This record gives sequence, C-alpha cells and structure tokens, in this order.
Amino acid sequence: MYPARSVVTMDPAQPRVEAVAVRDGRILAAGTLEECASWGPHRVDRRFAEHVLAPGMIEAHAHSLEGAFTLIPYVGWFDRHRVDGGTAPGIRTYGALLDRLRELDRETAGSDEPIVVGGFDPIYFTDEERLTREHLDRVSTHRPIFVFHASAHLATVNSAMLERHQITRDSTTPGVARDADGEPNGELQEIPAIALAMSGLQVILRTMNDPRAIDALGQICANTGITTVVDLAASGLSRPDGQAVWHDTVDRAEFPARILQRHVHALPPGSSDWADAADLMLRLAEDDTDKLRTAGLKLVLDGSIQGFTAKMGWPGYFTGVDQGQWMVPPEQLVDICRPFHERRINIHAHCNGDLTIDAWIDAVEQLVIEYPWLDHRHTVQHCQLTSAAQYRKMAKLGMCANIFANHLWYWGDQHHDITVGPERARRMEAAATAEREGVSFSLHSDANVTPLGHLHTMWCAVNRVTPSGRVLGERERITPESALRAVTLGSAYQLHLDQEFGTIECGKAADFTVLENDPLTVDPMEIRDIGVWGTVVGGVPFEAAHAE
Ligand SMILES: [Zn+2]
Repeated sequence: MYPARSVVTMDPAQPRVEAVAVRDGRILAAGTLEECASWGPHRVDRRFAEHVLAPGMIEAHAHSLEGAFTLIPYVGWFDRHRVDGGTAPGIRTYGALLDRLRELDRETAGSDEPIVVGGFDPIYFTDEERLTREHLDRVSTHRPIFVFHASAHLATVNSAMLERHQITRDSTTPGVARDADGEPNGELQEIPAIALAMSGLQVILRTMNDPRAIDALGQICANTGITTVVDLAASGLSRPDGQAVWHDTVDRAEFPARILQRHVHALPPGSSDWADAADLMLRLAEDDTDKLRTAGLKLVLDGSIQGFTAKMGWPGYFTGVDQGQWMVPPEQLVDICRPFHERRINIHAHCNGDLTIDAWIDAVEQLVIEYPWLDHRHTVQHCQLTSAAQYRKMAKLGMCANIFANHLWYWGDQHHDITVGPERARRMEAAATAEREGVSFSLHSDANVTPLGHLHTMWCAVNRVTPSGRVLGERERITPESALRAVTLGSAYQLHLDQEFGTIECGKAADFTVLENDPLTVDPMEIRDIGVWGTVVGGVPFEAAHAE
C-alpha cells in the first residue's frame, strides 16, 4: 500500500484518493487507507507519503533517437536534459557549432568515420545565412561531416560527404538542395535525400539500436515521469531480425519503462505485397511481452512546417520557399493501409500540413467504407494545422489526434513570424478545438525532436506561451486537468490500451508518475517546474537520476 499526499486518479467516479494498494503489478484498490487495508494482510510503504501520484504518463509519440542522442553529440539551440539528470548547453552561434565540430574532429583524429552531430535547427539563426557545405568545409575538407537537424527531416553535410557518396549536380533524388549554380549546397531534405549520405545516416541508425541507447531511453523516461513510451518509427517491418536486441534490453526486470513499437511502413525484405507487411506485423506481435509491445503501423505522409517541407494548402507558407514533399503519394494511401486495416491493426499517420491531414482523413473514410471496423482509433499524428472542420470530420469517423503541443514553445514565434503567419499560428496545436468537437486527443513531444517530458508538454498546451513571451492563441488553451487526461487516458485510448492504463482504478496496471507537487493545483505557469521523483511501472518503483 502506498499512502500519498494526494492520488490524482483521473477516474471521474473518485478523482482523488489517499492511497493505492498494489498486488501482482496491478492496482488492487484506490481509496482511503482503511479501504485499501480491508483487502487483507499488507505492507505499508510510506516513501510517497509527501508526493503526488498520477496515472503513469504515456508518451504516444517519441523516437528511440531520444536514447541514441545521449551517445551522439548535441548541437541544438536550447539547453537539453542529459540522461544523468544534468543539462547539455545549447549552441547559439555558427562559430560555436564549427568549434564543436573541430573539437570532435581532433578527439577522433585518424578515423575515417564521419563526424555526426544532432539537434541543429537553422530557423533560430536569423542573423546567419542558411547553413551549407561551405560552412562545414571550414572544419574539414577531407573528413565527412553530417549535421542532423532537430526536426529529423533535414541534414546538412560537407563537401567531403557529398564526394564520398557521389551526390552531384546530376543527382535526381528529390530533396537535394542546390545553390544558384545548380550544385548541391549540402542540405538534404527528407529521408530519400538524407539516405544518399548513407555513411552518416548509418551512424544514427546503428546508434538507435544500441542497447546503451535503449537503456538511456528507459532512464530518461524515469527521469521525466513517463511510464510508457511509443517509439513511433520502429523498423520491425524492414529489419525483423533487429527485434532481438530490443527484447533482450527492455524485458529485463530493471528496465524502467514500457516501450511500444509503432513500425514505420516498409515492405518486408523480398516482398512487394503490403499484405506480407501486415502479416509480418501480426507475427511481431506474437512476441509481445509485458514491457515491449507492438503498437501498429506508422506512416509518414509529409515533412515539417519549420523545414518548409510539409504539404500546405492555399495560401501556403507565410514566408520562405515551399519545399513541400509527399512522403507517400495520396493515391497510394488506401492500398498501403487496406491490409493493415482489414487485420485490425491501428494506424497512425504523421501529418503536418493541412493538405496532408485532408488526405489522411479521406483515406480513413474510404477504409471504413470498404471494411467496417468502427473502433479503429486511427490517428492523426502532429495534427499541427488541423482546422475545426477537419476535427469535426475526424470525430464522425472515430479518429484520434495526437497534438504536437511542444511546438508552441520551441517554434511558436517562428510559426507566427515566418512559417504560417499570425492567424494560423494562433490555431496551431488546437487542443481546445479538438476537445470541443469531440475528438479524443493526446499531446506529444516527438522526442528527440523536442525533449521527452509530459509536464513540459502539458505546460505548453495549458499556457501556449512562446519564448518571446507571447500567448499564442489564448482561446486554444486547455485546463490542466484536460492536459493531464490527454497524456494519460488520451494516449492509452489511441493505443487501444485504455482498459489497462490511463487511470488509477482497480484492475489496471500499477503504473504511476510520482511528482513533488500537484499539476492540477499549482499555478499553471509552474507545471513544467514540478519535480519528478520517478515512476512506478508494474508496481516497481524507478527513481529519477540526479546529476551532482
Ligand atoms: Zn515523430
């Protein structure tokens, strides 16, 4: 039995209780101490007596890159949490970026492996021209350099990398950006172009499946109060043999989180039939365990708004050049999804631009007409520019939304001033509209794109404050209670796991987020500053790391 300062259950029948009783990894009872004790012989554990327990927070859209980037040098703009609980400082000038790359070149002198760094975002460097190979050539003209951007949709490489992979003015792959003379300028937009610089991308892919990176992801979950994290671009369909390392790492009793894998759409090796991919997904699910499970299919339909690669409808981007890319041609969408939908495999599609959201909603309508699975809970991921009309249609079709609330802080000013303009920026990440129109929704960080941590993500949706101090769309703010429901029950629902997770009530898994203060009663501007003791996963406590 765990008595607590308060237990926030998110169960409308009894929103707050004073204790929970746990047996065999599940919640036996939530109620008064006396009610919990009435189940029979018990032990009282008072370690959370001064803490607030909430249902285990579920991050339904993150990436294993969050763990991998503990092993890859960070060159992002914002300070960022480290796995040991400390902070990695942000990089604010090109000079500092190039110095860091020179330092890495010295530290690994003699290697012909490329230098790979991550987290860079050109949109903040408004005083500088766009980063190109010419900047990176000042670090090295012979050692290949690969700068992976924060969005994970772009990379910038130097001339040595272009030469190593023969990326030239004759390259026909879309997304190879060019200078005025038609020569590649070093920027590679979206995965087909980034994959041309294979030796750089390989370092990222290899690190994502390194057991040390998977362990780091688990510890970051404990540090930030996340009990379940969905890896939204797992590679089980293209690399089914790669699953073993995930099970070996995550199934250990000491691994501090549950991981759900949403496999990114790909044909299995040697197949040209999407039905084979859907059957493979079912076979992968046969190996599911308590800690590592198959969540379903992920589709990436377009790029990112801040990278100008999202597919935008009229009138397009506010400033900048429209480099919108379809990652899946809309006319192929139903054919790819049909065998998954018919096997009742839940599908989440990455949609950033408003054109893309239309394409996905239309595809879901067609799938449901062809095969009437009414409780599909297919989801729009990111949902950044979803309009009220789109939300109304999603509600009618039984679709869910996972809203990228962290954008409001990390790119809110840039969306207002640069990408979409003031009016559309005020209705980005429109959680209040989703709630009003009856769409079940969650909120996400897309970690490593922004740092993992649902208190920060809730804070963004509740306050909608940007770094310049602007409140971006006050009418789209939601209450702390709605935000907490979104990151617990809302996430569980769109994963078809609401019978097992998302609230604190008898019969559900004993997964709790253990907080130093109460997110529903503190000043809303202080939600992101609430301390995290750690988590309880399946009845086992996991404490956050604290750097010296
Ligand atoms: Zn993502």
